[in-house]
Amino acid sequence: MDCIFCKIAAGEIPSDRVYEDEFVLAFRDIHPQAPVHALVVPKKHMKNLLECDDGTAVAVLNAVKAVAKSEGVSESGFRAVTNCGPDGAQSVEHLHFHVLGGRQLSGRMG
Ligand code: AMP
Repeated sequence: MDCIFCKIAAGEIPSDRVYEDEFVLAFRDIHPQAPVHALVVPKKHMKNLLECDDGTAVAVLNAVKAVAKSEGVSESGFRAVTNCGPDGAQSVEHLHFHVLGGRQLSGRMG
């Protein structure tokens, strides 16, 4: 399968990793939109949130919390968001949560 995040998880494409456990990997977004911008990705391929099983959902959300802490934005605040499908502006079809912080984010969501 030609999936860039599967290749990152397999170590075939380099990434700036900030977190890893048995089920989840997090790395810095290549085009950061905030001082902190990491992507939290399940190692198992799934297209988006609609394909996410319960165990993966828990693992990914726990990793989001761990990344927010390790990146130093858990106290100042951050945004965790997943884009889903064409109207959701999902460009990589492998489930990922963006973790954004390090500045005051816009209140606009869309
Ligand atoms: P989305 O538009 O929600 O699907 O987000 C995909 C994100 O993946 C974008 O913010 C891209 O900048 C990011 N991205 C794409 N390729 C890479 C890569 N090789 N390493 C890190 N981030 C990437």
